[in-house]
Amino acid sequence: MSFPARAVVDLSVIASNVRSLRAHAPTAQLMAVVKADAYGHGLVPSARAAVAGGATWLGTAQMDEAIALRDAGVTAPRVLTWLYAPGAPIARAIEADVDVSVSSAPALDEVVAAARLVGRTARVHLKVDTGLGRNGLTPDGLADLLPAALRAQAEGAVALVGIWSHLAFADEPDHATVRAQHDVFADAVRLAEAAGAAIEVRHIANSAATLTSPQVHYDLVRPGIAVYGLSPVPQLGGPGDYGLVPAMTLEAELATVKRVPAGHGVSYAHQYVTPHETRLGVVPLGYADGIPRHASGSRERSGGPIRVGDRTLGVAGRVCMDQVVVDLGPDATEQAGDRVELFGTGADGGPTAQDWAVAAGTISYEIVTRLSGSVPREYVGVEVLAGSAGGAAAATGAAAVTGGAR
Ligand SMILES: *Cc1c(COP(=O)(O)O)cnc(C)c1O
Repeated sequence: MSFPARAVVDLSVIASNVRSLRAHAPTAQLMAVVKADAYGHGLVPSARAAVAGGATWLGTAQMDEAIALRDAGVTAPRVLTWLYAPGAPIARAIEADVDVSVSSAPALDEVVAAARLVGRTARVHLKVDTGLGRNGLTPDGLADLLPAALRAQAEGAVALVGIWSHLAFADEPDHATVRAQHDVFADAVRLAEAAGAAIEVRHIANSAATLTSPQVHYDLVRPGIAVYGLSPVPQLGGPGDYGLVPAMTLEAELATVKRVPAGHGVSYAHQYVTPHETRLGVVPLGYADGIPRHASGSRERSGGPIRVGDRTLGVAGRVCMDQVVVDLGPDATEQAGDRVELFGTGADGGPTAQDWAVAAGTISYEIVTRLSGSVPREYVGVEVLAGSAGGAAAATGAAAVTGGAR
């Protein structure tokens, strides 16, 4: 493998982040959200690490990812999937023992039909839109749906095991909508239970609410970004304030280093011009790999941070499709082949995905999830999987994913 960059994912860190999150929500179970290829960290190895850390549930938006977890032999925890369009492989999901969310009457009809087809009871979580205005039944829609859902339950086609929702302002714990959504949710739970649903898990808390709003932990919390060690509330605290450590380090080898004179334009449109004679290094990662072009640098402002030795420099000039340039300074001793770090744990003042988010005007979620499949994932801390059942196979699975994704 000759790709001169990689995302190194520490699975033992994912496991310990899950342990920290469980300590924040000691009365709830924990669903590690592993959608979007585990936020770019790799679906199966990350899921196994989260389970090793104590997650008893896994969650994916896409049904294909939920089924992929089962196909990979991730059998122990419950898995919930929640985003699908008409015609989705619901029957396969039911056969794979995946819980499915229902957000509309037509979706319930499809789930019931699929359950009858495969002759198994579908485990259903009713999604309520308590104010996010995205997916989910309105409270009136829930009331309308319940009779049909309960008939399907009586027939054995479905089991109404969950009721759930999602917050609009979880990252602002004092926002009035948090309280308001909580109230709407409590009413929805009462309505479903009074109608005869035997709900196992009520859940509404994402990472931010897990860390900052204990009153909404209910039976199950659903953190995503915090599992990977990034803060969902950077304005309130960094990962370290919540016992979290970023699990992914993005590193590359300098492709070339060369000396240039003062006044040398750098990268497209010469947005950066060398202020004096200096050395330029080429980092072989660009926007095709997921480096945001909005984190370009200019004369006025340095771009996304890059750790070179013990210095943190910034992208000089425009981010290109497959490379960025860094101004190493006139006295730099770095050579082609030296390792640089774009983001990592943040230890010793090193750059983080959150720093890249600030540089690009976005959130850390987007920085890690947009990292392309072209960038190899390499797994360390795999010994954390060894304690779990089938640990050796699990570790092999992690290695296989590293190779298979290329
Ligand atoms: C993505 C997602 C989560 C996890 O959100 P984080 O902010 O990453 O913790 C939880 N629930 C639902 C419905 C989601 O879509």
